[in-house]
Amino acid sequence: MRRVAFLVLAIGLFGAVLGVEDVPLRAADSPRLLVTVVVDQLRADYLQQFNRHWKSGFRTLLDQGMVYENARYPYLVTVTCAGHATIGTGTLPHRHGMINNTWWQRKERALTGCSADSTTTEITYGRPIRLGNSATHLLVPTLADELRTQKPGTRVVSVSMKARSAISLAGHASDAVVWFDDPSESWATSKAFAAGPVPAVKEFVEKNPYEKDLGRVWTLSGAPESYVNRDAGVGERPLAGWNGLFPHPINGRGGVDAQFFALWQATPLADAYLGRLAASLVDTFKLGQREGTDFLGVSFSVLDDVGHAFGPESREVEDVLRQLDTTIGTLIAHLDATVGRANYALALSADHGVAPMPIPPRGGRVATDDVRERIEDTLRTAWGPPQKGTYVDAVNFTDVYFADGVFDKVRANAAVLASLVKNVEEIPGVVRVLRTDQLSENSRDPLVRSAALSFVAGRNGDLMVVPKEYWFMSPRAVNGTTHGSPYEYDTHVPVIFFGGGIKAGRSKASVTPADIAPTLADLAGVKLPMAEGRALLGGDR
Ligand SMILES: [Zn+2]
Repeated sequence: MRRVAFLVLAIGLFGAVLGVEDVPLRAADSPRLLVTVVVDQLRADYLQQFNRHWKSGFRTLLDQGMVYENARYPYLVTVTCAGHATIGTGTLPHRHGMINNTWWQRKERALTGCSADSTTTEITYGRPIRLGNSATHLLVPTLADELRTQKPGTRVVSVSMKARSAISLAGHASDAVVWFDDPSESWATSKAFAAGPVPAVKEFVEKNPYEKDLGRVWTLSGAPESYVNRDAGVGERPLAGWNGLFPHPINGRGGVDAQFFALWQATPLADAYLGRLAASLVDTFKLGQREGTDFLGVSFSVLDDVGHAFGPESREVEDVLRQLDTTIGTLIAHLDATVGRANYALALSADHGVAPMPIPPRGGRVATDDVRERIEDTLRTAWGPPQKGTYVDAVNFTDVYFADGVFDKVRANAAVLASLVKNVEEIPGVVRVLRTDQLSENSRDPLVRSAALSFVAGRNGDLMVVPKEYWFMSPRAVNGTTHGSPYEYDTHVPVIFFGGGIKAGRSKASVTPADIAPTLADLAGVKLPMAEGRALLGGDR
């Protein structure tokens, strides 16, 4: 019955695209292409705050999509890898395993990146690359993985500047997963996804060298007086080579070098490049233009770079979004022309939000070294120097990892434990110290619940140090601001569905980005056995 209703709607909408050339002759009874668009650091309030600017992609999605206004991440560590894996799989970090962008590996005594994989070899579309990436740490299948299993013939393409973003949307195998490798300044994939360079990607990168943007200038896309935000705001930390004022030249210290690349990837040019790459791969792989259901993941990263450096109230953030509106609009127009709007379903969301600039006295930075020293001092006072090394192996973001056997000793001694917790909670900006052995998803304490959803034994530490609102944990003062907390500005993100058979509307229902994959799966008639999110759009299509 639902299928019939969907078909009727799809045919109805199909009429709207008849004027477009090259669309398939009839609308399929389930989408031929599922598209997940993630905008890194897109806070929910941006879409309203800058509403006057939207003319293209965001305008279409807000006016013609189903907009969920109350979408929030329910877990503590709101960072890129966790968010993308949540969107990609329909599960939360305690289940998908991407608890953070990095975590401490006790056996190797080293930090690992969430997508790092020393057993795979990187494939470059430019200069040689050292480190491998794969989905080896992702503990559940993605929506794209399930599509490939349940609908043989499915093609999967995923692109981002960040490996962890492209991979967490794609999953464990795919036709083209493309990211940018920072150290080598080259587009990349790995042997986990392809035997060699994917010809379609190679051709695009060779025809469109990003290096040709050397010497270009990022200028405002509108008149200065049309901006909500002022230029050169308080607390900005412009990237090396820039100051706080527009225009921002895209130059290296000596041509195409690390500085050039760092600046290029923090301008709207990089988002536009990624959009063109995605559109080109839609064409070469004929995504959505055959029988079956394909998957396209696109994660735009520029806003995150710019937001960290200039903060959410900057003119830079506002202009990135104005230009991204055009980039997303261009991608939607391309999908309309090649796939037909009736034949694809698109979800837009974000992996996390961002905190306002931490300006004292309201906010600030908790240095992870201070946390480490406070714990070390407490235990030295109680027990004297450790027999070897230090009591603490690592403090990584919110996680404290004790050396072998130390946490057992600490929790066996109530007085030592109490003074340790008290001393850390006295650090300005710290609100709570949680024991990870006492986390429960059913706790009545919302903070304990959110930490439990971010916890995987063997990946997280022994303690989690939670900062106060407007404060954040950071090893160094490199960024203006960041994200990663359980507070509204980090957790509240957009969730919008758009495309064939999806009615325009607004919902105030409480949802999470873990509902995105189940919703798209439901449209495509695919099961997600591990999903914790639920299929939305129920009666709305
Ligand atoms: Zn970030």
